[in-house]
Amino acid sequence: MGHTGPVDFHCHLDDPSFDNDRWRIIDRCLAAGFSRLVTVADAYEERSLALTAEILGYRDALAAVAGAHPHQADGYSPLIERRLLAFLDRGPVLAIGEVGLDFHYDFAARENQETVFRRQVALARERSLPLVIHSRQAEGLVLKILDQEKFPLPVVFHCYTGDMATAGEIVRRGYSLSFSGIITFRKADALRAVVAATPLSHLFSETDSPYLAPEPERGKTNTPLAVVRVVEAIAAIKNTGIQDVLDQVAVNYRRFAER
Ligand SMILES: [Zn+2]
Ligand SMILES: [Zn+2]
Repeated sequence: MGHTGPVDFHCHLDDPSFDNDRWRIIDRCLAAGFSRLVTVADAYEERSLALTAEILGYRDALAAVAGAHPHQADGYSPLIERRLLAFLDRGPVLAIGEVGLDFHYDFAARENQETVFRRQVALARERSLPLVIHSRQAEGLVLKILDQEKFPLPVVFHCYTGDMATAGEIVRRGYSLSFSGIITFRKADALRAVVAATPLSHLFSETDSPYLAPEPERGKTNTPLAVVRVVEAIAAIKNTGIQDVLDQVAVNYRRFAER
């Protein structure tokens, strides 16, 4: 390898804030040598699924995950699930995601979040698809559910913001952590310590754009181009070369995608 480009493991290219420049941003990423952009399709939004299908057809370096986000778990229904299954049937989909539990915002009742998450895990197993997890202040229960289900496929905790002990529990199971621009924030020393302790073999880079612009752009609209800042931060924290991080994340991506 040696010239492997960045992977943005998690971005929302369907987001309306990209409506004026979506294709231009994708073209700029590919011109910059990106090896993969993974966009997230939202099963609750027909617009998101249709637009994601269009994005997938646009360029080879694009991949998608699809699933029912915990924020909207109160609205899960047979209709939503049929839409998701139809999207998976049309494929190719990299993983079920982002799915999980969010006990920080609590936008949906916790019992509904848990029911929907268990259902997404079952769908992933039926379809032999790995999982991309969204978890805020709920990693313990997420891991318990994955253990109970004996989930046999790769799992990545996207935009990891949990503590060191939980990160260890995740890696011990063979699962991986994906880090966003939050690791560049001034007050993120504890999270940088988690990055330092996470083996390069179990780590991904992401932007979660249009959210979470890294420093010095914090607060502005984020784009996948900023994943370069995240990769630079990982390299600095781990005291290794930027290309080493790019190469290893590309290896991790292939392991996740090609089972
Ligand atoms: Zn998320
Ligand atoms: Zn997201």
